[in-house]
Amino acid sequence: MGRKFNFEFTPFFYPQIRKEVITMLVNNIYELIGHTPLMKLAVPTPNDSQIYAKLESFNPGGSIKDRLGMALIEHGIEIGAITAGTTIIEPTAGNTGIGVALAAQKYRLPVKLVVPAKFSFEKQTLMRALGAEIINTPSEEGIKGAMKKAEALADEIDNSYVPMQFENVANPRIYQTTLGPEILADLAGQRIDAFVAGAGSGGTFAGTAKALHDVYPTMKTVVVEPEGSILNGGPSHSHRTEGIGVEFIPPFFDDVQIDVTKTISDQAAFDHVHQLAAKFGLFVGSSSGSALAASLEMAKELPANSTIVTIFPDSSERYLSENIYD
Ligand code: PMP
Repeated sequence: MGRKFNFEFTPFFYPQIRKEVITMLVNNIYELIGHTPLMKLAVPTPNDSQIYAKLESFNPGGSIKDRLGMALIEHGIEIGAITAGTTIIEPTAGNTGIGVALAAQKYRLPVKLVVPAKFSFEKQTLMRALGAEIINTPSEEGIKGAMKKAEALADEIDNSYVPMQFENVANPRIYQTTLGPEILADLAGQRIDAFVAGAGSGGTFAGTAKALHDVYPTMKTVVVEPEGSILNGGPSHSHRTEGIGVEFIPPFFDDVQIDVTKTISDQAAFDHVHQLAAKFGLFVGSSSGSALAASLEMAKELPANSTIVTIFPDSSERYLSENIYD
């Protein structure tokens, strides 16, 4: 897909611009899903470790969940659960909804997304723009309330299908087969000492950890959650960090090694979001801020010169109405 040629010019104002220009001619938006950049962060770290972040906001729908949307729809078609005109119903915090709506558009399928009211206005607007209908459930019922409502709607609507990201095998599998291998390819044999990722459904963490572990069996796996998520054994409560945090243990964690769980406060997550914009020109959402905070904590605990890989799932632009930079 990518074509490269050498562009000769004398670096003057922009000495850091790459001489090699990559151009890309595409036929549709779907060809742009995946193959996101892996960025070596110029963040000072304890112990001279290096942190690399996969910039998933570069997907066309703006998040890591475009991969999943396509995987859920194509898996449904493959197993015969989706045929012409099937109504797709899915409970989602938002990014998966955008991914599912984008993929469903390709196959001309109607979509109903069940979203707890608290999730960002921008994400809900984008889902509507893609043609999805949104059904809001009460914020205090959390994602479990949205799951129940989606099942109830499916019972009422003929020829409907709930992919159910929280238990669908296609979820971790798409990260194991695309995101993990992309990281390995970009690092070209450089050993990875730790993989750090947040968990919502747990699909990103489980699938990517498996792909990286197959190559680096001694690598530490680190799952990240906000305060109010239950992996640390604490009580479930609301949090400002959006997209990560679990109300139940993801079934995808049954067969994946978890070495460390890091609980990151909303304050720490947002502080890192602010720093990434102000110092490095990176616009990321709060789950990315958590991922960086946890990666920096790991850098303190690992031997010197370790390589840490993490994921930045989306951009801050979809949280501006929530005053992400205040
Ligand atoms: N960050 C953001 C912004 C998300 O929307 C999600 C998905 N809800 C995640 C992280 C976590 O991804 P996963 O569901 O694969 O655990």
